[in-house]
Amino acid sequence: MTAVFTLPPLPYTTDALAPVISKQTVELHYGKHLQTYVNQLNALVPGTEFEKMPLEEIVVKAPAGPIFNNAGQVLNHTLYFEQFRPLASDKPAAPSGKLAEAIDEAFGSFEEMKTKLNTASASLFGSGWAWLAQDSGGKLTILQCPNADNPVRHGMVPLIGIDVWEHAYYLDYQNRRIDHVADVWNLIDWDVVASRMK
Ligand code: MN
Repeated sequence: MTAVFTLPPLPYTTDALAPVISKQTVELHYGKHLQTYVNQLNALVPGTEFEKMPLEEIVVKAPAGPIFNNAGQVLNHTLYFEQFRPLASDKPAAPSGKLAEAIDEAFGSFEEMKTKLNTASASLFGSGWAWLAQDSGGKLTILQCPNADNPVRHGMVPLIGIDVWEHAYYLDYQNRRIDHVADVWNLIDWDVVASRMK
């Protein structure tokens, strides 16, 4: 088996997000869950039409099933782990420039966007993701995606992904998904999010 997909490098140390996301959660979520999705995708694609396809194209084109599930989760978690910066950081706590303008235009204010994404995260039944995404017209929107789904499958650009699978927060917040999501805002790297806009 030739490894096609690899674990994306973590742009901070495993303890940098604590206590919002503990070292243990990062080690399990990134080191075990994401690694497993990568391994399963590498095991599934050889000999299929997806063998030489870029990850995002697989997520757009694969029919519902194991290849889509694992490709979706590799893309989702790559976007997820790359969107954070250390909790102790000099980086800005709010968006600026083009991203801030797009948020104001779509939601009225930064606070209102956060409220809407918090609500989408809290009300998603079962496992899945809440996303801030940019639609084909350039407008920002909030999306609820079950399981491995991603905005690219709906013709949109993913900007921020909130993982509400229980493995993302249960060790640190147990059943308190809402509290976890409220604290995750303190980890967002707004430069990374802005760079994802088309
Ligand atoms: Mn996850």
